[in-house]
Amino acid sequence: MKLSLQQSIYSFTLSSCLFFIVLVISILWSIQVVNVALERERYANKVENHANILQQFISIENIYASDFNTDSWLALDRKFNELLELTPSLTPQQQTIQNSIVSQNKNVLRLFNAINKNKLINADEKIKTHLKVRLITQLEAIKADSIQLFNTVQVDINNVIRQQLILVLSILSLTLFILVYGAFKLVKIFRTSLKEVKFAFAKNRSGNFQKIQLSNKSEEFESIANAFNDMNTELSETTVSLESMTKIVEERTKVLEQLSNTDPLTNVGNRRSLFERGNAEFARVQRTKSQFTIILLDCDFFKDVNDQFGHSCGDEVLKCICKICSEEIRNIDFFARYGGEEFIILLPDSELSGAVKTAERIQDSLANNCLLFEGKDIRVTISIGICMVNNKHTSFEDVIKDADLAMYRAKENGRNRIEVMDDDSPDEEATDDTSLDTAISDNNISY
Ligand code: GH3
Ligand code: MG
Ligand code: MG
Repeated sequence: MKLSLQQSIYSFTLSSCLFFIVLVISILWSIQVVNVALERERYANKVENHANILQQFISIENIYASDFNTDSWLALDRKFNELLELTPSLTPQQQTIQNSIVSQNKNVLRLFNAINKNKLINADEKIKTHLKVRLITQLEAIKADSIQLFNTVQVDINNVIRQQLILVLSILSLTLFILVYGAFKLVKIFRTSLKEVKFAFAKNRSGNFQKIQLSNKSEEFESIANAFNDMNTELSETTVSLESMTKIVEERTKVLEQLSNTDPLTNVGNRRSLFERGNAEFARVQRTKSQFTIILLDCDFFKDVNDQFGHSCGDEVLKCICKICSEEIRNIDFFARYGGEEFIILLPDSELSGAVKTAERIQDSLANNCLLFEGKDIRVTISIGICMVNNKHTSFEDVIKDADLAMYRAKENGRNRIEVMDDDSPDEEATDDTSLDTAISDNNISY
């Protein structure tokens, strides 16, 4: 049977009260029983004393003498009789002794009356002595019985006291046990349940939304546990949706980040990401004194493509250029649309010769891959300007500016060319007469 805590406390209090009442009743009853035993003792004591007096009286006095006080003896015996009639409740054994005393006393009285009635003053001494001896023997028997009665009563008192003590102590022990056990049980229920609730709260705080499992089933704590479990379920659901929301936000942020850094048409880096990476790379180069080269590409006569084949064809051409460029660069390089039909490649840790090689590869690939648009074979060329960061550059924009100058020189020199802006190149003019480096010698490359 499942009890609520309130019911448990009530039943504990009620049973404690009941046991206490039983204890009080048992103590009162024991006092009563001991009192009865003590009364028997007092009675037995009186009987013994009286029997002694009677026996002494007869032993000392000469019952045949003329001055013997018969009335006085008879009064004593009457008193003895009255005492025997006012018997307290006795045990069967004591009652038997009591009966024996009563019948013997009757014998004594009969014998005494017989002696007294027959006036044995002149009788034979032998008879007199015989009768007196009989009387004394009877009285001694009464005395012996009264002593036995007294002894029996004494033993009985000890027994009664021991029995009542055992009874009271047993009930007291049981009451104490009930009190201690009940209190212990209640405290245990409270402590264990509170501990379990506290533990569940601690787990909940650390993100573990487990249900409370109560080891003690009590209505009150179960209602707390149910409320807590409901709250936990709701919390876990909210947390799950919060987690999925965070995931979605993270994914969207990633997409947004990508969009904000990507050119929507060509899917390569946009101007924003170009400057972000370019500035960072420029700062790194200043710090580490390493090399950093950029390539600026511009589609030749792109306006004509648009004019001739349409704007969407122009878009496809831009995508095609992007694809080729992305394939020809290294993993650490960064390719972005600078604007319109102009693109920039960032080449960290790369010197001019490496950048020129990359530019050549791009030009070759472009020359070998024509774009088919609506059945028409479209071919484009690009002019390239290359610039490596040097001491004169104070910002990334400076580097772009120089690469742009080199690119314009390529335009001026006939397009589909690679022009390199080195330290010695004049800022404004293209240097058509500069000798070509053997390693990168090409008709369209100049320094
Ligand atoms: P040059 O050889 O001197 O570079 O001549 P160009 O025609 O390529 O140069 P110009 O600057 O005169 O023309 C660039 C053209 O590129 C003009 C513009 O309409 C076109 N353009 C810019 N952005 C886009 C684009 O996103 N899509 C298309 N289809 N055309 C674009
Ligand atoms: Mg242009
Ligand atoms: Mg152009």
